[in-house]
Order: sequence, then C-alpha cells, then structure tokens
Amino acid sequence: EEKKNLSFVEQIIEQDLAEGKNGGRIQTRFPPEPNGYLHIGHAKAICMDFGAAEKFNGTCNLRFDDTNPSKEKDEYVENILSDISWLGFKWENIYYASEYFQKLWDFAVWMIKNGHAYIDEQTSEQIAEQKGTPTKAGTASPYRDRPMEESLSLFEKMNLPETPEGSMVLRAKLDMANPNMHFRDPIMYRIIHTPHHRTGTQWNAYPMYDFAHGQSDYFEGVTHSICTLEFVPHRPLYDKFIDFLKEMNGEEDKKNDFRPRQIEFNRLNLTNTVMSKRKLHTLVDEGLVAGWDDPRMPTLCGMRRRGYSPESIRMFIDSIGYTKFDALNDMALLEAAVRDDLNKRACRVTAVVNPVKLVITNYPEGQTEEMETVNNPENPADGNHNITFSKYLWMEREDFMEDAPKKFFRMTPGQEVRLKSAYIVKCTGCTKDAEGNIVEIQAEYDPQSKSGMEGANRKVKGTLHWLSADHCTKAEVRVYDRLFDVENPSADERDFRELLNKESKKVFTNCFVENYAANKKPGEYLQFQRIGYFMADNDSSVQHPVFNKTVGLKDTWAK
Ligand code: ATP
Ligand code: MG
Ligand code: MG
Repeated sequence: EEKKNLSFVEQIIEQDLAEGKNGGRIQTRFPPEPNGYLHIGHAKAICMDFGAAEKFNGTCNLRFDDTNPSKEKDEYVENILSDISWLGFKWENIYYASEYFQKLWDFAVWMIKNGHAYIDEQTSEQIAEQKGTPTKAGTASPYRDRPMEESLSLFEKMNLPETPEGSMVLRAKLDMANPNMHFRDPIMYRIIHTPHHRTGTQWNAYPMYDFAHGQSDYFEGVTHSICTLEFVPHRPLYDKFIDFLKEMNGEEDKKNDFRPRQIEFNRLNLTNTVMSKRKLHTLVDEGLVAGWDDPRMPTLCGMRRRGYSPESIRMFIDSIGYTKFDALNDMALLEAAVRDDLNKRACRVTAVVNPVKLVITNYPEGQTEEMETVNNPENPADGNHNITFSKYLWMEREDFMEDAPKKFFRMTPGQEVRLKSAYIVKCTGCTKDAEGNIVEIQAEYDPQSKSGMEGANRKVKGTLHWLSADHCTKAEVRVYDRLFDVENPSADERDFRELLNKESKKVFTNCFVENYAANKKPGEYLQFQRIGYFMADNDSSVQHPVFNKTVGLKDTWAK
C-alpha cells in the first residue's frame, strides 16, 4: 500500500491515530505570514501540511499568521492564495490569526488576573540585558511583581493609540532561570501603531508569534501543527500556553479533550539562492531583480513565470524527503525534476536563438512545403503541427564551422547533415563580409531525402533545426542562470548583494521562432528543440513574443 512511504512526521500522526488521540480526527494548517511571497521552501511545508491531511482523510486549513501589521499586506494574501492553488492544493477554510485578537486579548487578561503575566515598562534593550545566557540565570524585571490590577490597567493603556510604541510590553511570568531561554518571561504583547491590513486601527497592542500561533491552533482544532526545526526550542512554551488555555477553559476544555501537537521537520535550503524573506525583499526593493516573480527568484511565482511545472516542484520535494537535520539541497536536483516532468509535457517547437542565413541553392525560388513535426515524441496523443520549408532559412550560428575538426557533425563544407523534419543537405560554402564575419551559408538539398522517403534513410550524423526566413516571427529570448555565484550565500561573510551572479540574465533580442510558437501563452510548456525548455513570458505578445528559458536539456552549470 501507499502508506509504506510515510515520512517520520506522518508516522507520528499514524501513531496518534492508532492511539485514538483527538477522537481520530486529523487537522493540519499551513500558516504563512502575509509579509512576502511564497518561495520553494514554503512549498515544502505546503506539501507536508496538505499532504499529511490528505493521506489520513483529514483537513488542512490556511491560516494567515497576521499578527505584525507593520509588514503585512493584502497583496501578499492574494498571491499566497494563487500560489497554493497553482501548486495544486485545496484548503478547507481560510482563517486569519487576526480573527482571534479578541480571544487572545481575553486570554491575556486571564493570564494577568491569575498571576501569569505582567506589564514591563523597561526598554527592549534593558529586557534583553536581563535575559542571561543558557547557563546563567536571567535577572528579574523590577516590574515582575507589580500588583495584578496595575498590570491590568496598563494592558488597557497599551491598546490606546496615544501610548508610544516600545513604552511597555506584556510578559508571561514564567521562569527567569529556565535553561530554555524562551521561558524567561517571554513577551506576549507589544505596541504597533501601523494600521492592520484587516482590522485597521482597532488594535494597538498585538500578540507575539509565541502567544498567537499555538493558541490559534487550539481555537481551530488543529491536531498536528507541523513546522520547521527552528521552532523546536519554542515547543515547551507552545505546550505551556496550551496548558494555560486548557486551564482557563476548564470544564469546556474537558468536554472536547484535545491538544494540538507541534512536530518539526528540516527546512528546505537550496544552493545558489537565498530564502529569507528579508533578503528577498531587499532584492525586490533595491531593483536587483525585476520583482517577486523575476524568473531567477526562488519564489513560486518566479518559478511559474520561468516555466517550472507545479508537478515538478512537488516531485522534487517528494524526492528530498523530510528529516530532522538541516541540509543544503542542490539546485541541480530541482532542475532535474523540472527536466523530467517537462520532457513529458512540453510541446516541441523550433527557435533559432543566434541566427545566420542558410540558402538551399538548388531549391526552387518561391516554393514552400509544409513539413509535419511531432509535438511530443513522449506523448503521441499531443499530435503534430506543420512547419514551413523554403529556399531561405535561418540556422544557429554555432551549428556551422568553416574549418571543422573531425568530430564536428554539424554544418561544414562538403558534409551532409539532416534538417529536422525536412531534407538532407550538403554544405557547399559560405559568404563573409569585409570583416570576415560569416553572413550566409549555402547548401544543396537532396530532393529524394525528405523525411519519410526512401532516401532519408541513409546515415547522416548531425540533425539541425532551422526556420524558413519568411515564415517565422522575431522573438526575444531571456536566458537565466543561478542568481548567486556562491553555493551558500547565507553562510558567506560578505553582504549577500555582493554575491549576486552578474551573468544571471542574458537577453537575446534577435531570435526567431516558428509562427506556431509565437502564439503560445504563459502556462504552455515548450521545448525549443536542441536548446532547452522555454515558456512565453508575461511580457509576450503575438507581435513581440518573449520567451523565458526554463532549463537547458542537460545540466550545464559549472561549479
Ligand atoms: P521568515 O523568512 O520571515 O522567517 P518564513 O519563511 O518563516 O518567514 P512564514 O510565512 O512564517 O515565513 O512561513 C510559513 C510556513 O512555511 C512556516 O510553517 C514555516 O516553517 C514554513 N517555511 C518557511 N520557510 C521554509 C523552508 N525554507 N522550508 C520549509 N518550510 C518553510
Ligand atoms: Mg515567519
Ligand atoms: Mg520564519
């Protein structure tokens, strides 16, 4: 059965089910903060959260963790929704942590009333200084033992628009000597005056991640709160706040006895890119890339624009698996998955990226022929289309050499090559301009060698692609490479901006594509034969087609 391939996270879920926990119910959530666009790292979490729910007939909700209004926007919410749909996942419900602001406030008030929280009026620097180290206990805040009523009224004041940011925080009164630093009176609330993307100016005091995440899980009935390894040290605090919540809810909680469980897996890190939202913001804000959906970005919208299929991203994530150890995965693995998948999907078309003229001197002037070409040899159901042949063609400059070495199986005087889907031709020479640049290549065709004819069967080593000069469309081709020169920019001492690969984008404006390809739209997977996989860019139009190179046919990245 398929269940054999369970990740360690799914094995834990299976065990919980076997033990009858939470009444056999499975509920997960994907909890993005709407403060940027989703990247391929998020895709790994999405595949886990949605995948686990699917495997155990559970549900997965989307919850926007929108507790920091200074960085959050509706624009991000909308793009997160479309990226998840593009990946092929369906959420059960959409929730926002901001929907729980009142509930969280009430819980915080309960914490204060029960002696578990206090208002601290020190600066964040003072609080940090008192934290201590894992081996040295922290120092108690002078406000730690202030009367409960005082904290209660100051908490009300915290939420007023006139109370300055940073003037006070609400802290949990836990344990200043705990070896787990997160227990040293963690901050529960802080003041932010930036209006919230959903609740506007209704609130001025906002819960911190640790005082919102687990609680939201509890409010929603999440059974398994799956996240990444950096949250391991937060787990005891996650559980502690759930304990308080259960205590507050008393009998009500006992009725539907339930407890969310946090499980952590390793983040996805990829070579030659960065995944931190702060750094991605910098790249966009400083114009170092053309936007969040720049095809070089590790964002899902960037990969979509570049021509990656959602299936290939899911296959890649599946292949690397989920562990308890952080690692750096090679971008080449992702590209191999993209290649594998696009080989099955992509429509084969012809493009000449670096054109030079080829004249078939013995082909009748003005004559044309429609040559049939297979859309995808991997999938006959995709059918065929025609490409026009004539006397005047374009071919790739790299496919010709005047004085070629023995093993050069492309175009060179005296040698036969096959023109794909058309005839066998023999090169007769070339013409150069005053500077010695080749401006035209001449060849003669064998009329008996058309594809399908008897004469086409003789052995010819090279097959070249071509376009009829009067039956193609001028196009722009954008070729991308790794965004960063170094394997692990995050581990480098230098500013990450200095590590950008200056050759990561090359634009070729003098290319030609067959007319059939000029009509292709973003979202349609293409293979430019002999060159690589491509997709029409959002900037593309039939009059001015623009194509992004998705990935080459082979791995050519030189390390
Ligand atoms: P930041 O860069 O600010 O830390 P983030 O990447 O954590 O942000 P969130 O919106 O908080 O962004 O992430 C939503 C979920 O995606 C979280 O559960 C987080 O653990 C997961 N996630 C984020 N980055 C990765 C990654 N590289 N690999 C796997 N999961 C990730
Ligand atoms: Mg985050
Ligand atoms: Mg994070």
